[in-house]
Amino acid sequence: MYPILSKTTYMCGLQCQKRLFLHKKHPSWANPEDEETQSIFQAGTDVGVLAQQLFPGGVNAQEGERWHNQVTAKRTAELIPNHEVIYEAAFIYNEVVCGVDILVRKGHEYYAFEVKSSASVKPQHIEDAALQYYVLSNVGINVVDFSIVFLNTHYVKIGDLSIKDLFKAESVLERILDKQDFIGNNISTFKKLLRQNQIPDIEMGSHCNTPYACNFSNYCSSLIPQEEEEIEEFIELDASITIDKDTWLDYTKDWEYPMYFFDFETVTYGVPIFDFSKPYQKIAFQYSLHVQFEPNGELIHLEYLGDGVCDPRLDLVHQMIRDLGSSGSIVTWNMTFEMGVIKNLANDFPEFEEELNAIYNRIVDLMPPFRPGRAIYSEAFRGSYSLKNVLPIMVPELSYKDLTIQEGGTASILYGQMKDLDVLENEQLRKDLLEYCHLDTLAMVKIWEKVMETGRK
Ligand code: SF4
Repeated sequence: MYPILSKTTYMCGLQCQKRLFLHKKHPSWANPEDEETQSIFQAGTDVGVLAQQLFPGGVNAQEGERWHNQVTAKRTAELIPNHEVIYEAAFIYNEVVCGVDILVRKGHEYYAFEVKSSASVKPQHIEDAALQYYVLSNVGINVVDFSIVFLNTHYVKIGDLSIKDLFKAESVLERILDKQDFIGNNISTFKKLLRQNQIPDIEMGSHCNTPYACNFSNYCSSLIPQEEEEIEEFIELDASITIDKDTWLDYTKDWEYPMYFFDFETVTYGVPIFDFSKPYQKIAFQYSLHVQFEPNGELIHLEYLGDGVCDPRLDLVHQMIRDLGSSGSIVTWNMTFEMGVIKNLANDFPEFEEELNAIYNRIVDLMPPFRPGRAIYSEAFRGSYSLKNVLPIMVPELSYKDLTIQEGGTASILYGQMKDLDVLENEQLRKDLLEYCHLDTLAMVKIWEKVMETGRK
């Protein structure tokens, strides 16, 4: 019988029955796939293949690149009697198909392993594993343990990847046994839903992003009555800015010229590619720096950008230590991020620990005065103090809107792809990355100048 549900659709149904309905009946209404989704999917596939090396010598039940439910389930049934380790095994029960990343047989007992490219076991992994266990146990597979395999963020790569150290495995058997009673009911509910023709009447809410961002958000947003949006547009927010001078002066009293307006961009690799780095460590690949030696003085711009191929950290550290000099405040927006990156660099390159600690101790943060109830207020901030939100109100002539890259997440993903680009694409991406990071620090300079100027009035 052709399966109606899979792990993916079951998880959609748990998140939102409307999502499940749209996924099955109107897949073309989904948001276009963005770079981030594709890159997360690819990372998950790569990690799954690497984890197979934990149990070498297995056979893959999936033939070719494409997953085909019934073909893979049929091949799994053929492989099971003669193989101790099967990758991508598939089983069908109660019109639900489930794949298992790694299935290990010891005598008549089976050990199932589900590989995740995350750094820990998440609640949604338990739901997903519970469904797998339900299908496997009902087709007669004697699963005596079920583990989630995930990336070990304490592993430091030195030389070749050590697969056994790269991964950790955690048994979730007890937690998934607790859920077995509910799974049959959930499946019945979802099947009944899919026999209907009516789209479930479910409004958007916090569930749209938990545990995953729903890929039907564009469609659901388009259903929100237009009047609501129009009313929103016509509400004129007061863009005037109020500054509590005493609080501002007290907050910035120790800041010293030269002022170094500084911002990092970082990239993370689930599977570390550089020596002396860990899974999901933030690797600084770029910075922008605007230096001002006196109030309203000339601005000097300095920057660093890696080549997308080699480990950028050591070159970056050398240049950054030179560029940041030895005195003056280093102004950031949300300093915990920059401080965390500097700490990591000091850890990775202990020979520069002293210089990096000196930089760390000079970092100050321009963001807190913009938090609600602090020194600087505008109704137009709408309670948000992100740089992208504050900039157009404080300095309307500067904007991210015309840039190809408009936020750090995109910069990080595109940098990760840089090594695969041809010369022209590479040149364009470098230009886009430099423009984006340049605006981050110029924005801080202009916001700083605006506050100082407004505060003097
Ligand atoms: S956007 Fe929200 S309401 Fe719409 S289908 Fe997705 S989860 Fe459900």
